[in-house]
Amino acid sequence: MPEQPRIIDCHTHLMWYPDHLSEQYAEEALAAKLVKLKRSGGLAYSANLDKHVYDAKPDDHWRVSRDVHKVVVFGLQAKASGMWVPNEVIAEYAAAHPEKIEGWASVDPTQPDCREQLDHCVKTLKLKGLKLGPVYQHFDPQDRSHWPLFRKCQQYGLPIMWHQGTTFPTAARLKWGLPLQLEDVAMDFPDLKMIIAHLGHPWETDVMVLIRKCPNVYTDISAVHYRPWRYWQALVTAMEYGVEHKILPGSDFPSGTMDNIVSGLRNVNRVVEGTALPKIPAEVQDMILYENWKAFFPQWA
Ligand SMILES: [Zn+2]
Repeated sequence: MPEQPRIIDCHTHLMWYPDHLSEQYAEEALAAKLVKLKRSGGLAYSANLDKHVYDAKPDDHWRVSRDVHKVVVFGLQAKASGMWVPNEVIAEYAAAHPEKIEGWASVDPTQPDCREQLDHCVKTLKLKGLKLGPVYQHFDPQDRSHWPLFRKCQQYGLPIMWHQGTTFPTAARLKWGLPLQLEDVAMDFPDLKMIIAHLGHPWETDVMVLIRKCPNVYTDISAVHYRPWRYWQALVTAMEYGVEHKILPGSDFPSGTMDNIVSGLRNVNRVVEGTALPKIPAEVQDMILYENWKAFFPQWA
């Protein structure tokens, strides 16, 4: 039997209500989830939904990671949006499963001690990357006052996962969510490896042109299959700009699982079935799931 191709998950969360999420955040997350379910015809399931809808505890995370080769996990620290997952939670879980789980830090750049926190995360907690979300954290990624933080990441060799795209909480500041706002960071820190989450939705085209010109900037397909029309267009755009090799597999667990992500990608052409519109070939789907990650995470190949 040929060996099963290996898949990784570059984007997962640990968090739970009420320890890490404010009342308002949890309420709005529930409302957003209900909209998603209504659209997909899965409303019956809503009977069990409450503000714990996005709870992701270590046991849940471990269960869905069973068939995945390696998994990146992080929390998010965003004071302005009511999210605060201690980095210790991530470190403890990652340390319990070093063969599979890689923990990344999150620090809030609006907090004056964010660089000391990052030092602590690297030196003491042994975390291996950084998650940032300017829309949640209310900072301008083009503001040079954050350059020392990015310089530290480059020096430590820490990749950054950016939530650079839209989101649902009323507290978010979408003006800091535009993917092109990462161009200056990428140009001033050419050795810094970065991933733009969720194909930068709904600015997927901006992501494709940015990753074409920035060698160390990649993107992930987490949480985009719920919007099949955008997803298909984004992948056609990626192929037209020749960047399909820079798209990584991620689930955004608990919002999705790797099983959802694989079936979402395998069904990406359904929305244009029976038309003459271009299709995303199976070989490109295979690359996204099983090959591209080896360039970003060579240590796992
Ligand atoms: Zn996420």
